[in-house]
Amino acid sequence: MKLRKDVAEVSRHLHERGWVANHDGNVTVRDGARYLATPTATSKRLITDRSLIELDGKGQVVGAGRVFGEIKLHLTVFERRPDVSCVIHAHPPNATAIASSRTNPIERPFIAEAFVSLGPRIPKIAYAAPGDAAAAALAPWCELVDAALLGNHGVIAWGADPEQALLRLELVEHLAKIAIAALPLGGVEPLPEASIQPLLAARAKAGIGRAADRALATAAQLLGSSAPPLATLAPGKPVVACAPAPHASVATISPSGGSPPAQDLKTVIREEIVRSLTSK
Ligand SMILES: [Zn+2]
Repeated sequence: MKLRKDVAEVSRHLHERGWVANHDGNVTVRDGARYLATPTATSKRLITDRSLIELDGKGQVVGAGRVFGEIKLHLTVFERRPDVSCVIHAHPPNATAIASSRTNPIERPFIAEAFVSLGPRIPKIAYAAPGDAAAAALAPWCELVDAALLGNHGVIAWGADPEQALLRLELVEHLAKIAIAALPLGGVEPLPEASIQPLLAARAKAGIGRAADRALATAAQLLGSSAPPLATLAPGKPVVACAPAPHASVATISPSGGSPPAQDLKTVIREEIVRSLTSK
């Protein structure tokens, strides 16, 4: 019952934030061998725990209700990510503006904690027709990232639970809003090259999902030609970690603060990120 309530709450939140309109958006969760899903043709404003439909392991409806047309996107993620229990798709305006434009200024997250939380790349997947083509376009990214822009469409994000998936989608939209706000100022500045390696190491140690676990192995693929030489990553670096939610409170520390020796993982990761950003 809690899972149903969580999905209903997330669905209504999508509407409250203005990230969906009409019948847009959908939320699914893995519930044992089955899935729970938001019903098709229903405003997310109206979703309650009783509205949800049940699907079997192949995405076929069990009992009453009709499934939404984008279910294959969700199933594609679930099939490839056994660590994922929730997938959320919505059309948040700023991220969807970028998804529908010719550029992707959030492709490389430009804020340290977003880099740790979402990884080195937020891909924009070229538009593909809904159904098998869209699912096939998403499939290669499922193991590599936890959120993606869908070209001329919206955002899809996934996580270990509804809260984590929602926070990832929120963070993509937040980055998009900032990137668009920065356009009159000349656009966002990429993170310093020297910061990439420690942030990748922080992400690899963060314990925030399979994509993070694989951060070092997949960095070259995700960063393309700007990939750091992974062999230079110092072995035995201090353990760095991140709160399970993507919004670890790393933004509030002062780079100039002389902090005491690390006593906990949050302190360690804050120091690690600050060090990486302030050292050349
Ligand atoms: Zn959609």
